[in-house]
Amino acid sequence: MALHGTNSDRLLAKIGGSRRLPVVIGYHRTVEEFPSNAISTIPSMCISTRMLERQLDWIGRRYRFVSLDELGALMESGNSIPERIAAVTFDDGYQDVYEHAFPLLKKKGIPAAVFVVTDLIGTSQLQIHDLLYLLLAGADSKSGSAPQFLSRFLANLGISLSPSPGMATISRDPHAALETLFGILPQSAVLSVIEALETKAGLSQNTLREHRAMSWQAVKEMHAEGITIGSHSRTHAMLPNENAEKVEEETRGSRETLERCLGEKIRHFAYPGGQYNAATVKAVAQAGYRFGYTICNHRDSSFPLLTIPRKMLWEKSCLNALGSFSPSILSCHVHGSLDFVARCKLNHAPVAA
Ligand SMILES: [Zn+2]
Ligand SMILES: [Zn+2]
Repeated sequence: MALHGTNSDRLLAKIGGSRRLPVVIGYHRTVEEFPSNAISTIPSMCISTRMLERQLDWIGRRYRFVSLDELGALMESGNSIPERIAAVTFDDGYQDVYEHAFPLLKKKGIPAAVFVVTDLIGTSQLQIHDLLYLLLAGADSKSGSAPQFLSRFLANLGISLSPSPGMATISRDPHAALETLFGILPQSAVLSVIEALETKAGLSQNTLREHRAMSWQAVKEMHAEGITIGSHSRTHAMLPNENAEKVEEETRGSRETLERCLGEKIRHFAYPGGQYNAATVKAVAQAGYRFGYTICNHRDSSFPLLTIPRKMLWEKSCLNALGSFSPSILSCHVHGSLDFVARCKLNHAPVAA
């Protein structure tokens, strides 16, 4: 596929139908070197500083980067969004974003936002998805992954995963296991799985350090330097799986913590795992947020500003068959012309898709 120059970009924009929507990019971790194996970390959450720079340079040559506040003001005004506007966001608030992405953003003068998980800031606690993934993948265990164990454990909880995707699939693939468990279990049940797995294998200091969340000092410094700080809940709970009380605690609670520490109104929220439904969108509105960000193209027509789509990118999002960076593939992502290939698997019911 050879798609160079502005004509192809315009064509792609038409195919993607994305003219009415701003381009909002989402990343997670930024690492010095992309990990060579999928056991030590979740690959699709990592991008190397080098690849991040290539992607941002490409986007920056075609789009004007704006902050989420500027983007929000444009969307609120009701005027059509200028065609070439892009915003950059980072989810979860990893310390490596402060260490690797922040200096790059500063050097290039690119505005960006970081969505933090407030209970984790300044602690040595891992993100719940990292913890579960690393334990399932057997990151630091000599006995390998724990499929049989997981199967028995879920059966004891009365959870059956057959026929789809089935225990056979999730026991072979820690990533599939992660998606399945976070798709159906409330956080309390996920924590029981983690606790049980932890009794079998612990994680090394290295692994813990590598995945740690930002310190408050880092959050405050980035905020002082103009990075928008948004909320990504208190504990990264998948909101549609939780009761109303927990959802309020996760949304309102994290906003209040950030406002207390940063002395500023917090208006932006990113749904953990991109998971939302009509009730959670409403709860996020009631918790005082003005803008919400998802990871797919679905919208809640009653709350369009609280369901702003994002394109999630990582190290290998834009590689061609030879493993090299492909501007054409990045162009397809940015213009949304790959969206029909990667359909959203999240359940937003009862929001119309
Ligand atoms: Zn997240
Ligand atoms: Zn969706």
